[in-house]
Amino acid sequence: MKVLLIDDNPFDRELVKHKMEQVWPDIQWKEVTNQQAFSAIMKQPDFDFVLTDYQLKWTTGIDVLKFIIKCCPDLPVFMVTDTGSEELAVEAMKLGLSDYVLKTHLSRLPLAIEDFFQRRQLKNEHEVLQKQIQQAQKMESLGLLVSGLAHDFNNLLAGMMGYAQQGIKHSSANPELAEYFQHIFTRAEQGARMTRQLLTFARGSHLEPMRIQMNTLIAQTLEFVGTLLGPTIKIEFNPDATIADLYADPTQLEQMLVNLCINARDAMPHGGTLRVETHTFQLHKGKQDARFTAQPGPYVQITITDTGEGMSPEVLARLFEPFFTTKDVGRGTGLGLSVVYGIIQQHHGFIEVTSQPGKGTCFALYFPVAEQVSLEETTLNERAASEKVTPSVKTPGKVTILVVEDDPDVQQVICEVLREEGYTILLASDGEEGLQLFQEHIATIRLVIADIMMPKMQGKEFQQQIRRRQPETKVLVMSGYQQIQLQQKDLLDPNSDFLQKPFDLDILLEKVHTLININN
Ligand code: ADP
Ligand code: MG
Repeated sequence: MKVLLIDDNPFDRELVKHKMEQVWPDIQWKEVTNQQAFSAIMKQPDFDFVLTDYQLKWTTGIDVLKFIIKCCPDLPVFMVTDTGSEELAVEAMKLGLSDYVLKTHLSRLPLAIEDFFQRRQLKNEHEVLQKQIQQAQKMESLGLLVSGLAHDFNNLLAGMMGYAQQGIKHSSANPELAEYFQHIFTRAEQGARMTRQLLTFARGSHLEPMRIQMNTLIAQTLEFVGTLLGPTIKIEFNPDATIADLYADPTQLEQMLVNLCINARDAMPHGGTLRVETHTFQLHKGKQDARFTAQPGPYVQITITDTGEGMSPEVLARLFEPFFTTKDVGRGTGLGLSVVYGIIQQHHGFIEVTSQPGKGTCFALYFPVAEQVSLEETTLNERAASEKVTPSVKTPGKVTILVVEDDPDVQQVICEVLREEGYTILLASDGEEGLQLFQEHIATIRLVIADIMMPKMQGKEFQQQIRRRQPETKVLVMSGYQQIQLQQKDLLDPNSDFLQKPFDLDILLEKVHTLININN
């Protein structure tokens, strides 16, 4: 322990040192007794804290304190004062003094110092936790915002893609026009890809989990990532062969690794090393406050370290936010790490990042090992084996389909394409109207295609009302929300088929044909 002692009186100095050494015998003392020595030593302050007298020949303890706070705000200063200067000591506390001790109570000094360091540690821990809670809340509200936005966009895109496809189909005599429609379709598809990424961030993507050996998956991914990274980046992989299996979605994990590797590449424009390692990590009960949403237990830890340009604390605080990027327009979308974040959250894992400008970056990803995971598995479309086979139909001409959809564009495009196929269509714009039409045409309707978020009656309620009236009727529901989000909100009847908006009209037709069992 190194301590700076500021006191003019040699007798007092010895007294202070004596009291302190009774508790800490190995203290290395630095002593100053004039302004010059003080200024010199403060140029390179190499001590853990400062003990200063109040009444000095060349200045006062208050001025010493003010000076230290200005140049090293984190350096603790303790004041040792004579009786009578207690009021001044209080004033000094307001300025940021760590504590003060009267010379008449010198034996209290080591205790005051210990107390201070304990308080400081608690305060630091509290601040770290507070920051993490704020961060989690921020990500949570961003997730809500993003998933609402993506839902509305998916409805818009469903209309756009549908009209564009109809446009292509009806402009066979005019290839130039068809090409315009094709462009619209392609751009809308890009938009759909973006909303899918946003939904992954908002933990709304559909998982297909299975048992996975992470080392194998990493090795395979790195093999093809190698070509993306180019010859100037060296890839090292140190797998720990003893890690347990994960229960996870391999496509998503691959996506996560690729996104992280591409970021590492962008951070090393002049080359460098990318090191990937796996380990087993035990998150102990009570120790998880730093990762306060994670369950204690065994985890597989994957670290991805680069020797790139690193990040400033400002970038570190925001890097998972959707659309946050420091790259030039056209170079970065700011969605890469949002997707990584969503994937890890959905697998009940957590992520930690350490980085310093110029010193590279390390991403540590933690996934719970297979045994303790219970992922939200989809039960949708798990039909009872005993289900009756719908009698096949020769031509669509005889089949009536009820379409319930509140978005007029989506409604019209679905209607048009089904009519062109020869189906008879009944149209409704909300749940109540849909149910009324269903009641009136109950004998002829073979299939109900319905949106989930509709005015008046929506979701599961509507699907169940239909089924109550006619259990044989097939129901195909569609939504701009992801299947898993609807399941979480209990808006899906497990007996209904699901179609994600926006969709390719060919896929809609394929689903309709299968459900009605068209036999042609
Ligand atoms: P994008 O790569 O499109 O910018 P990301 O979400 O993948 O979006 O990353 C967000 C930002 O985080 C990047 O723009 C960059 O500033 C920072 N970043 C991510 N990974 C690294 C890394 N390995 N080294 C340095 N900075 C990084
Ligand atoms: Mg990126």
